[in-house]
Amino acid sequence: DIRVRFAPSPTGPLHIGGVRTALFNYLFAKKNKGTFVLRIEDTDQNRYVAGAEEYIKNALEWCGIPFDEGPGKEGEYGPYRQSERKEIYKQYADLLIKNGFAYYAFDTTESLDAHRKDHEEKGKTFIYNWHNREKLTNSISLSEEKVLEKINSGDNYVIRFKSPKDEILHLKDEIRGDIKIDTNILDDKILFKSDGMPTYHLANIVDDHLMKITHVIRGEEWLPSLALHVLLYRALGWDIPSFAHLPLILKPVGKGKLSKRDGDKMGFPVFPLQWVDPKTKETASGYKEDGYLPEAVINMLAFLGWNPGTEQELFFLEELIEKFDLKRVNKAGAKFDPEKTKWFQQQHLQNSDNQILTEQFKTILKEKNISTSLDVQNIITAVKERAIFVKDLWELSEFYFVSPNEYEEKAVKKAWKEDTPILMHELTRILSDISDFSETNISSIVKGWITGKEISFGKVMMPLRIALVGSLQGPDLFQIASIIGKDETIKRIQNAIE
Ligand code: GLU
Repeated sequence: DIRVRFAPSPTGPLHIGGVRTALFNYLFAKKNKGTFVLRIEDTDQNRYVAGAEEYIKNALEWCGIPFDEGPGKEGEYGPYRQSERKEIYKQYADLLIKNGFAYYAFDTTESLDAHRKDHEEKGKTFIYNWHNREKLTNSISLSEEKVLEKINSGDNYVIRFKSPKDEILHLKDEIRGDIKIDTNILDDKILFKSDGMPTYHLANIVDDHLMKITHVIRGEEWLPSLALHVLLYRALGWDIPSFAHLPLILKPVGKGKLSKRDGDKMGFPVFPLQWVDPKTKETASGYKEDGYLPEAVINMLAFLGWNPGTEQELFFLEELIEKFDLKRVNKAGAKFDPEKTKWFQQQHLQNSDNQILTEQFKTILKEKNISTSLDVQNIITAVKERAIFVKDLWELSEFYFVSPNEYEEKAVKKAWKEDTPILMHELTRILSDISDFSETNISSIVKGWITGKEISFGKVMMPLRIALVGSLQGPDLFQIASIIGKDETIKRIQNAIE
């Protein structure tokens, strides 16, 4: 059984990089009929931010990529919050010590700093491993009694992994292929701290094992930890899951990783949902509040590092699941493109069900205190083509609901001539005689009348548009007339003549 996990640390709002990781895990799980686990990695209490976990859950829900197991959706492998699993980790640290894969270290911050400085002065980098273990304050050469004595007397300690000497590790990544690492460059990473908390590395490995995770899909920033993680699995005698490290998400312009702050600079969200910082009260905008459809955001994120190998760009979740393949994930960083995101939004809005759009639009009408007897869905169908967001629909359709009370000056100058009132007056008489006020019928009668008079179409159509819309914009005029109805059409023309 395929089991994957998304394992964010609740240190703030999840930015789109995190959502992309969650999405790729979700797609991989669903494609393989597997399980998508959410695990909250909150062992670092100093970096904990109130509300962050709630935000993560809400974001996944809004995106339509819910987890199968996680906090609040207990499965067989809970609890799913590391702070609630504290008791689990120590025994594995002890086991590693017992089997010679880890050791206690009692170095003070001051002495480590001094070593670091000393190395720097000689132009070397300080690595805490077999090169200098003997010279540092740890249990490597101490008797068991002596170690116990130190711990019992209250000496601060950490437990460090004993990284091996002179070994070439062969690592495998589903996206990057084979990677060779010389263990001599690895340092003895801290696994456990004297506050009783494991570090990320130990907790992560233990939980992935206990939660029976088969594939670890995570961001490229964790690639440097892969060697240690593989060594830990080996030391504990556990099966090693498959690893896939997703490419970085890059700034739209300039160099480097997209950061949480780039959003403000670009005037564009980099978060799925709006986030109000609990301390500073600063607000960062979110896709949801900015009017994006979750389908559009998901579609955009899927293309940050993956492609289907065809020209097709418009995808719904179901089809993404069907087509998704780790083999089609790139190594190279993916440039985030705000304009492309808008394009996805526009495409998905065009594909939205008109009935659902109409319902959403009706709440806008309510906010504007508009009650109407018009066929709203008809109107939405007529103007949708030019909308990117639901909120655009109001601007595009306002004139259906409210007759113009002013007329665009430039348009009037261009289209309103001396004989226009007479023509418009005549037109109202023609219109009032039409009994079947359908688009095609109005069109053929009015066009027939214009042709018969041997005048240009513009002479009638432009002023008529000004009368009905207030400007020279909008969809087909006869369609507008038919939607607002005969009485309203005539009333608007009369208003314009006066
Ligand atoms: N807690 C880590 C993070 O915040 C998880 C890394 C991993 O997936 O192994 O990204």
